[in-house]
Amino acid sequence: MSYVKGLKCRECGRRYPKEPIYVCEYCFGPLEVDYDYEKIKKKLTIKEIESRPKTMWRYRELLPIDKEPIVGLQTGFTPLIRARNLEKALGVKELYLKDDSVNHPTMSFKDRVVSVALAKAKEFGFETVACASTGNLANSVAAQSVVAGFKRYIFIPADLEMGKVIGTLIYNPVLVAVEGNYDQVNRLCSEIAMKYKWAFVNINIRPYYAEGSKTYGYEIIEQLGWKAPRHIIVPCAGGSLITKIWKSLKEFKDMGFIDKIDTKIYASQATGCSPITTAIKENLEIIKPVKPNTIAKSLAIGNPADGVYAIGAVKESGGWAEDVSDEEIVEAIKLLASTEGIFTETAGGVTLGTAKKLIEQGRIPKNESIVVCITGNGLKTQEAVKDKIGKPFRIKPALDSFEQAIS
Ligand SMILES: *Cc1c(COP(=O)(O)O)cnc(C)c1O
Ligand SMILES: [Zn+2]
Repeated sequence: MSYVKGLKCRECGRRYPKEPIYVCEYCFGPLEVDYDYEKIKKKLTIKEIESRPKTMWRYRELLPIDKEPIVGLQTGFTPLIRARNLEKALGVKELYLKDDSVNHPTMSFKDRVVSVALAKAKEFGFETVACASTGNLANSVAAQSVVAGFKRYIFIPADLEMGKVIGTLIYNPVLVAVEGNYDQVNRLCSEIAMKYKWAFVNINIRPYYAEGSKTYGYEIIEQLGWKAPRHIIVPCAGGSLITKIWKSLKEFKDMGFIDKIDTKIYASQATGCSPITTAIKENLEIIKPVKPNTIAKSLAIGNPADGVYAIGAVKESGGWAEDVSDEEIVEAIKLLASTEGIFTETAGGVTLGTAKKLIEQGRIPKNESIVVCITGNGLKTQEAVKDKIGKPFRIKPALDSFEQAIS
């Protein structure tokens, strides 16, 4: 059963058939999935959703696949955690963490987008999948493509964290480490995508792939009891997740699942790579590309593909943006660990650090509901904190040695 009419240009509205294409031939605008919402409304109700298994596929009609999903069948429906200790630490009344650091199967929100992309690549008849990645995408494409039986080519910047590299190589894809930053990797991949008949999940499959991110937003609403929070702090790399979270709110409003959207969306980046937050803070309509220099490598995209749409989502919602230094990222990672017992990767340090800043600035009122997006797992970016935490007490296997050590 298909609920997708085709693709549509975000800029000029021109329509295209369902194909592995991503830019408008006329205005070079990005293409977006065009759904038959009337048909979806007849099928998808809150009651229907609640009757289904707790995975991202419970919102299946709002995802752009025509057949059944082939991978990531357990992906999504990650915990939304009421963070009571963190509330005390930050002096706020109602704070939640949407925790994709435990997403299945590769511990980041990228499992959502890859699950959709691979289903689509299969529908289109591709035998080879590929991606340009800042790390988490590499992990998810490598893992999930094993299950789906694709040939795999994965491209990363050569300086990624060990956890991201090993977390890719273990699935034995062709892993290409490019001597350059993500933007250079991405440019190279766009050239390769034109020449080789591969499904690049975040290039020629991007319109479909990106839709998977909406489920992160749907789940926040459902887990709050079919209510949108007042504030959501979102990490930005290419700027896709933030635009899709905003879209998820609007779709649930149009579907009648929530009665109003009273939510401000905040873009969050590392100061060492902050093209989106800088544009918002300086009130620019366009993105000035930067050369990334930050420990938050998963967010290190200097020329974000969806940057202008990210700015648009923030502005339309009445939100704002902020960025944090590498020291603030580490502080926030440690704060999350010491209050809520959650070990997030650098991207989670970015969002929590940003939340703290926005609360201190008074931009986010202390008595309104806040959701902080935790999108990845700290075990993958151990380099970031390795030298900033304690060391084990080394002792002899004897009681007196132990007592000496703790005294
Ligand atoms: C990719 C990624 C993001 C942001 O993704 P975009 O959609 O490109 O903005 C956020 N957090 C983590 C951990 C990621 O890997
Ligand atoms: Zn167009």
